[in-house]
Amino acid sequence: MTEAVRTQGLFKQYGPQIAVAGVDLVVPAGSFAGLVGPNGAGKTTTLSMITGLLRPNAGQAWIDGLDVWRDPLQVKARVGVLPEGLRLFERLSGRELLIYNGRLRGIAKGDVEQRAEELLAVMDLTGAADKLVVDYSTGMRKKIGLAAALLHNPSVLFLDEPFEGVDPVSANTLTDVLQRFTASGSTVIFSSHVMDLVERLCDWVSVMSGGHIVAQGPLAEVRGGRTLNEAFLQLVGGPRNSGDTGLSWLGAKQ
Ligand code: ATP
Repeated sequence: MTEAVRTQGLFKQYGPQIAVAGVDLVVPAGSFAGLVGPNGAGKTTTLSMITGLLRPNAGQAWIDGLDVWRDPLQVKARVGVLPEGLRLFERLSGRELLIYNGRLRGIAKGDVEQRAEELLAVMDLTGAADKLVVDYSTGMRKKIGLAAALLHNPSVLFLDEPFEGVDPVSANTLTDVLQRFTASGSTVIFSSHVMDLVERLCDWVSVMSGGHIVAQGPLAEVRGGRTLNEAFLQLVGGPRNSGDTGLSWLGAKQ
């Protein structure tokens, strides 16, 4: 198995709070991989450390066999990232944003312009290409962010909640683009809370809880004959409130 991503003992602590408690993540090359876990499980912190955005307190991460912190430039050339809380250059138009990103990546002007137009068309953003990014909706921002992350044809694409705020038609478009991308041997790793989506799209799943990986492997193995949602609830401990704890006032007639 060729690995697109491997981490060993990845650890991050904020004061007394351990966010990521020694994570050994593995993602085979060519996978459509899902990283799932409850709120606060450490998914964003893990993805930030793997993509070189956040320095771990301990542990190592490799992408395509390259050490993320020893070969930062080589690694960054190979990855595309759609981070959480996407910050974009708001005063550029969508088209300008893509061209600027492509030029920063060292792609020739003609190639960038062609790729930008193709990506705008696929993302259904051609009509909004000259609009400033500040005036884009949440879903449009996700789509232009994804286009920017794909522009340099990365080997591994990291997406933090890529479908949040994206309408169903656009979600299908994004799915098509990402499936085409993995079919050509590239790797997608995305975090999500939507189990149905992960079950439908992913062939590899890593489940995080409390800063640890609690299950990892091919989708069918992690599911183990259950739905992914059932497997997830069993792995992370199920609903924490049974429903009769407090909130008796909620919905009560005055
Ligand atoms: P969600 O699904 O809600 O996005 P997550 O799995 O992405 O959650 P993280 O954002 O990685 O979780 O957070 C993991 C833990 O680390 C949480 O307890 C969070 O409060 C803590 N944490 C994350 N970033 C910081 C920070 N900059 N300072 C202090 N604590 C942090």
